[in-house]
Amino acid sequence: MSLIVTGTIGIDTVYTPQGHREKVLGGSCTYFAAAASFHGPVRVVAAVGEDFPDSFRATLARFGGIDASGIEVRRGSKTFAWGGKYLGNMNSRETLFTELGVLAERPPAMPAAFRDSRTVFLANTHPAVQLQMLEGLPKRALAVADTMDLWINTARAELDLLLTRIDGLVLNYDEAELLTGKANTVAAARHVLRMGPRFVVVKKGEHGCILVHRDGIAALPAYPTEEVVDPTGAGDTFAGGMMGYLANHKGDAQSVATLREAIAHGTIMASFNIESFSLERLTTLTRAELDKRYREFAAMVRV
Ligand code: AMP
Repeated sequence: MSLIVTGTIGIDTVYTPQGHREKVLGGSCTYFAAAASFHGPVRVVAAVGEDFPDSFRATLARFGGIDASGIEVRRGSKTFAWGGKYLGNMNSRETLFTELGVLAERPPAMPAAFRDSRTVFLANTHPAVQLQMLEGLPKRALAVADTMDLWINTARAELDLLLTRIDGLVLNYDEAELLTGKANTVAAARHVLRMGPRFVVVKKGEHGCILVHRDGIAALPAYPTEEVVDPTGAGDTFAGGMMGYLANHKGDAQSVATLREAIAHGTIMASFNIESFSLERLTTLTRAELDKRYREFAAMVRV
């Protein structure tokens, strides 16, 4: 099923205990699309400013499956830029700055050729933009969204409406608590189900993730990684691995069993991404490496 994503394409500055990078390619949509492209084609709808470097476009092109015809370049505007800093064991991060740039303007235009997309991922961006994208996709069969503290705090009404229109939500455990007021992850996830979605995937960093579905629950650990270099994009590459798998799966993509496999694919993709800064690791990743680690993980979690 044709997969489409909207979200941010950004210029990131990141500090971790392992080093730092200034003005590198980032953004929720970027990480998602790169990850999803390992499973099949992915259509990208996003806006950048005229400062968006050609070298970043070339990096995206290295992932053969990314259809970049929906990336709108706006003259006179600036690309979304974000800075973050990780401390200690990298389980928490501090946002240093968020420069909305094009995000504060109108939503990106969707090419007419993308309107037949069936699988939709609404990566982190303003919920109003996520809603508009959904409305432009009448043939969607599966719609999943991500969100984060900034939007929970600043765009709650749009987010609540979005939750009534999507099949699934992925978010971090602290964001689940912020959204629902419930500190217990399972209780928070169940609360989210009452707000609309059929399933919710709550990510807990190095402690793995939990799928809470109207038909059941599944939990997976994270892939045991010894050296984390930069966790940026872990959530987006998790979602890319998960949605890329679902978009190319034959059969019911919303069953607990299929979603459990999908979150395992997400877990493996994220485990590669955090091995280096920006998209450095994903640009060298091979299908054989992915398959090997997936098999290893599947054997590890079988009880
Ligand atoms: P993750 O680590 O998976 O949460 O994603 C990090 C990426 O999200 C970075 O590359 C940022 O450019 C991007 N990002 C940071 N803040 C936001 C935001 N408020 N909305 C959308 N994307 C964001």
